[in-house]
Formats: sequence, C-alpha cells, structure tokens
Amino acid sequence: MTAPFSWIKPEPHGIYIPPADCWVDPSRPVDRALVTHGHADHARGGHGETVATPETLAIMELRYRTGTENDAGEIPHKAVPVQYGETIRLPGGVDATYVPAGHVLGSAQILLEHAGERVVITGDYKRRHDPTCPPFEVTPCDIFVTEATFGLPLFTHPPIEDEMAKLLDRLAAHPDRCVLVGAYALGKAQRVIAELRRAGHKAPIYLHGAMERMCRLYEEFGVDLGELRLVSDHSKDDIRGHIVICPPSALNDRWSRRLPDPITAMASGWMRVRQRNVELPLVISDHADWGELTRTIREVDAAENWITHGREDALLRWCQLHQRRARALALVGYEDEDD
Ligand SMILES: [Zn+2]
Ligand SMILES: [Zn+2]
Repeated sequence: MTAPFSWIKPEPHGIYIPPADCWVDPSRPVDRALVTHGHADHARGGHGETVATPETLAIMELRYRTGTENDAGEIPHKAVPVQYGETIRLPGGVDATYVPAGHVLGSAQILLEHAGERVVITGDYKRRHDPTCPPFEVTPCDIFVTEATFGLPLFTHPPIEDEMAKLLDRLAAHPDRCVLVGAYALGKAQRVIAELRRAGHKAPIYLHGAMERMCRLYEEFGVDLGELRLVSDHSKDDIRGHIVICPPSALNDRWSRRLPDPITAMASGWMRVRQRNVELPLVISDHADWGELTRTIREVDAAENWITHGREDALLRWCQLHQRRARALALVGYEDEDD
C-alpha cells in the first residue's frame, strides 16, 4: 500500500512520474519525456524518447531535427505519437491520455491515471476560440496542474474580433503603407493569419522568411492560411496596403527597411501592460486570462490544484478564498516564448 499520489512528483526540472520513470515537459534532456506542446519552454531537444501528439512531434522535428541521423548513421531519438483521445500504457501501470488544450497546433493536456488516481497536467491552455487547434476539454481529475501565465485579475483579454478590426481599420486607412505585425513563429502567427481570414481578409499576407516553415507545417496539418507570400520575393510596391507578419525581434531591425513605411503592431497578451515601441498594440494571447483560469478551476473541480508557470500567488489566494485546495509549484526554466 503506497501513499496517495506518491507516483507523481513535482521537481524543479519538470513533473516526474517514478513508476514510469518519465517526465512531463522536462527542462533538461531525459530518457523519456511526455511533452504537452512544441513551445521551447515545454519541448526541449535531446530526450531519448518523446511521447507527444503527431503535430507536436512534427514541430519538434522542425525545430530540433530530432529524427536526424547521427555520425553513426542511427537515429538516437524515438518519437512516440499519441492522437487526441488516445491512451497509452507507460511502464509501471501508468496510463497517459492526450486531451486538447486549445493553445497551439498539437497542444495537449496530459491525463495520467494510476492506482485509481487521476492527474491532469495542462501545459499551456486557453478557452477562447482558435481556428488552428481543437478547443480545450474539461477533464475531471483529482489533481489539476494549471498554468498561470496571466494569473492576475488585471489580465482580461479582449475579444480577438475587436483586435482584428483595429488591425484591418488601420490597414484600410493607410493604403500606401503596410502593417507589420510582430508575432511568435509558433502559434501566434498562424492564429493571427487564420483570424484575419475568418474576418474576411482575402488579400495575400506577406511573411518574414523565419515564419515560412512553421506556416507550411500548419497547412500540412490542414489549417488553411490562404495565400502567403515571402517578403523576399517581392518589391516594396507589391507590399503597399498589405499585412506583413514577422518575429517580434524583426519589428524594429534593419530587415524592416525593405517594407513600405510600415505601421508596427505586436500581437501579445503582454500588450495589456507593456506596449514597447509599437504603434498598434494588439492584445492577443494564446494563454487563459484571469477569468478563464478561475472558470477552468471551477469547472474541472479537482480535489487539489497545483499552480505553476507564471503568477502563482494571486491564483493561489483565489483558491483559498473559494475553499479550494491549492499549492504553487516551483518549476524552473519557463519563459514567455509563447504569449
Ligand atoms: Zn506554450
Ligand atoms: Zn509555456
């Protein structure tokens, strides 16, 4: 007879599952990793075996060349694909089921079951509509491990339709210029493009070269992004009156000089509080805001909540005020690649 939940251990470098000898989203290379999604702070290269959705494995392959042969002609990494809703049996009698998290292409919550106990690890998630991935599913469990990137009441993300309207209005008002949108290469860029299409914007959208491969990967997995063109294949005049998407780091660098008098925009949840040097801040996040976090904790209704990956304190306090058991985890190695 073992103590309840002795089979799951939060450690600084990830959540460890002793009977299966594996880690969830470890921040350093391990023999066996279960990975929730492809952002760099969750998906590191160098694991012996990676269990993830086919989309996440493809993203990791693109970023880390995990399936590449070494000098001895062997592929040292083993990729184990798991579809949404599929359960795989890990060593030690632990079952893992991958459930949509609504964050980016391929993102999953991982439901772990062992000895009649259920733990859900969300990775990153949101509850808003996203045309590029299936929606978050509420999964009953005993322990709910939730992210808290935007875990402060001041973070309320506006409807994305309002932000798209701002962007399209600015574009229409300046037909001789272009709007240059800074967006992270995995997730945010493709969501902005897909939302522009949903808003009826049919014109070609221009890409910085660094966005191209990830956009093509999304298309291979069935996400329709409409006509995309590379900035490098076109003249300044071609780009007038169009939207250009680039990594945030390219917004104010030399590269943007080839564009026709760009209006700079940035798509990020942090635009609520940090507006940097952009003319058009767009508050668009792939993480749950305060209302989504508290609603999700209520709906999942777990016996215990473990809070990680962000601003744990306010959410911890909220749980206490609402008579919900909660603790903050001290995981290291999380950054804001994705916001
Ligand atoms: Zn993420
Ligand atoms: Zn993250």
